[in-house]
Amino acid sequence: MYQDFQKHLQLELQGIRDAGLYKNERVIVTPQSSGIRVATPDGEAEVINFCANNYLGLADNKELIEAAKQRMDERGYGMASVRFICGTQDTHKQLERAISDFFGTDDTILYAACFDANGGLFEPLLTEQDAIISDALNHASIIDGVRLCKAVRYRYKNGDVEDLEEQLRKAQAQRFRIIATDGVFSMDGNVCPLDKIYQLAQKYNALVMVDESHSAGVVGATGHGVTEQYNLRGKIEIITGTLGKAFGGSVGGFTTGKQEIIDMLRQRSRPYLFSNSIPPMIAAAGLKTFEILTRDNTLQDRLHNNTRYFVDKMLAAGFDIKPTQSAICAVMLYDARLSQEFAAKLQEEGIYVTGFYYPVVPKGQARIRVQLSAAHTTSQLDKGIAAFVKVGKQLSVIK
Ligand SMILES: *Cc1c(COP(=O)(O)O)cnc(C)c1O
Repeated sequence: MYQDFQKHLQLELQGIRDAGLYKNERVIVTPQSSGIRVATPDGEAEVINFCANNYLGLADNKELIEAAKQRMDERGYGMASVRFICGTQDTHKQLERAISDFFGTDDTILYAACFDANGGLFEPLLTEQDAIISDALNHASIIDGVRLCKAVRYRYKNGDVEDLEEQLRKAQAQRFRIIATDGVFSMDGNVCPLDKIYQLAQKYNALVMVDESHSAGVVGATGHGVTEQYNLRGKIEIITGTLGKAFGGSVGGFTTGKQEIIDMLRQRSRPYLFSNSIPPMIAAAGLKTFEILTRDNTLQDRLHNNTRYFVDKMLAAGFDIKPTQSAICAVMLYDARLSQEFAAKLQEEGIYVTGFYYPVVPKGQARIRVQLSAAHTTSQLDKGIAAFVKVGKQLSVIK
């Protein structure tokens, strides 16, 4: 039975390899941090990590680990239930409250991941009478969520408010409209123009949904995300996000926003109704995360300072850097092969990064994406910059 299908898969897989697009997992043998040890063909190597979403350096934070351990002792390992049957503990409710307070929203619903939050967002709220106007570079999970919903789809060019306005005009034909956008786009590090999006939403009678996965904890003076940056706290109807990036780096997602929207998601959102609760220890560590982030601004300041330091030195060294308003720094190389060679040479220098090229980014836009963290020390940043300069000169990217 399997033979024909096996042959088909083997050919497809070979095609992926031949195109140079085959993804291999790289194995880390330490906790996630700014300095890690990775498995190599001849043993292990120490590297400085510039490719984690560990923006605030919380992935190995002692307070979070302690909070998780303590709650596991108190409340056990797992819930063995979905939320509405017998999968809700007080910790889940407290975490939902903490997320609402953080974003200045009415209420919050937790999911196992932000992929689920986005996947289960649109279908319960909209019908074929309605419209979703989506940024062309939105995350895969938003695209999948839109696909699962019967609403009429409109797409606008990344961050292009003129195109958005044009689509909004067309979408007047529908009953309700939601504009959906990432807060920060993960390949360039640009922030969505939420101020203009919000103005257009008022003008054309639309709701706004922002996915803060790469922006929450990062963007805004105190890391409260794009609604802080644009002074729109409490004004956006729907915000989604993850606990898997700045907020601790573990697992979990959420949708936070207007009361009736969250109420309806609790009734009808399929990943919420048909998937297990996050473990109590993860909820407790999540609660601790929001305590840490509202206690003071140490981590947020450190991240902002590190990002500015790295970007300034890289520009001064002559690198072509995409303008960034986040902790993502795209070092433009344009050529796919060069991006892979550059990344491999950096790893030999003990610098862990990823080179991206088509189809992850547009053709001819290959790059190395550097992600800064509050956990990076100045010495680690200096080593990273020195390695970029050395390899950049070797490969004639800079003079
Ligand atoms: C990472 C990411 C997600 C997925 O988050 P998970 O919690 O890991 O599923 C969703 N949306 C955006 C914009 C992301 O960057």
